[in-house]
Amino acid sequence: MKTVAFHTLGCKVNQYETEAMEELFEKNGYKIIREDSFADVYVINTCTVTNLSDRKSRQFIRKAKKLNKDSIIAVVGCYSQVSPEEVAGIEGVDVIIGTTDRNEIVELCERAKEESEKINIVRDIRTYKKFDKININEIKSKTRAYIKIQDGCNQFCSYCIIPYARGPIRSREYEDVIKETEKLAKAGFKEIVLTGIHIASYGKDLKDIGLVDVIKGINRVEGIERIRLSSVEPTLIDEDFMKEIVKIDKLCDHFHLSLQSGSDTVLKRMNRKYTKDIYKNKTELIRKYMPNAALTTDIIVGFPGETDDEFEETCDFVRDIGFSRIHVFKYSPRKGTPAEKYENQVDGNIKNGRSELLIKIAEEMSNEFKNKFIGLSLEVLFEENDNEEQICEGYTTNYIRTKVEADDSFVGQIKSVKIIDSADDYLIGKI
Ligand code: SF4
Repeated sequence: MKTVAFHTLGCKVNQYETEAMEELFEKNGYKIIREDSFADVYVINTCTVTNLSDRKSRQFIRKAKKLNKDSIIAVVGCYSQVSPEEVAGIEGVDVIIGTTDRNEIVELCERAKEESEKINIVRDIRTYKKFDKININEIKSKTRAYIKIQDGCNQFCSYCIIPYARGPIRSREYEDVIKETEKLAKAGFKEIVLTGIHIASYGKDLKDIGLVDVIKGINRVEGIERIRLSSVEPTLIDEDFMKEIVKIDKLCDHFHLSLQSGSDTVLKRMNRKYTKDIYKNKTELIRKYMPNAALTTDIIVGFPGETDDEFEETCDFVRDIGFSRIHVFKYSPRKGTPAEKYENQVDGNIKNGRSELLIKIAEEMSNEFKNKFIGLSLEVLFEENDNEEQICEGYTTNYIRTKVEADDSFVGQIKSVKIIDSADDYLIGKI
């Protein structure tokens, strides 16, 4: 039996697309094996968000060739989209695909093997209008499934390479999203996470369909009990949006609103399309309609020119908002973006110090948020269990990890849990 091994870098969208490509290989008689095994084909699904991601992609390409010198190496995704010539120049690479046409991967790998030639099908993404259908039909995980509803981004934040790697916004057809949801519901999934590069833009390229319509459509699918949004841009939130979504009973009260900085001057240099006042107003709207909502975010520290005062502003602002979780990133210049050329790049030690401080603040806020729920009852969707310890764990609607004493019969079920205590990064409850 022919074998294929995948190595995936980067975000949830890439992970989704890897699963879909795995299926294509399986349908064509391949067996999926571990990435460090001797395989006939290696697929490296790359990321290009930082220079480090590029390096990691290159390292794995070389490693794969060492594992089997006669293998076919296919490089797919954002790095090959942005730098196809660079990827084609790496020894051992046979197939180069960008962020389109991944449906053809099996055929291209077989052609490269037969004809012993390098195949490069990377297109100019700037004018690409189609949402590439690449579906997951067989379900591998248990309770929570991701559905990719959108690709591309038109925002051009000054530090980000994604618009160059993924191209302009493209939305998946409504009917197609609903069909995939129905399939997932039949397979026993209870929770759907809507994912994409910039899901706030969903529908902008379709006729009379927007993100709210998709959420409503999924809400009607029998068997699905929760809908969660992955990261959204703050600009999505307004009073009308909140009024609509608060009526959608399966939508989780959890919003990952990318902030990136709490200083207006830094936000401007980042080319973000809001100020901190606008952002704050969005969070107040969310809390007005969903008082227990979890607000999570991303912050970049050490953006070029970030002064001590600007960083302090960010610290004060995040305390003011009260996030339940913050992903802290140290700015790393990305080749090909405007910010790479900005003056006053911040010293690495300063970035480290700022990152540590912000992580500490984030931990304090996270504890404060979860401890508010001690003594209350929350709905938990159980995802996994430890049979030896008889502990089952899952997430609340507002994304707090929660553990209870129970056997594996709870997995895949939603139960009302009385919260009795909290530990490092989870709540402890009882049924
Ligand atoms: S919104 Fe900004 S950070 Fe997000 S993908 Fe688009 S350009 Fe990148």
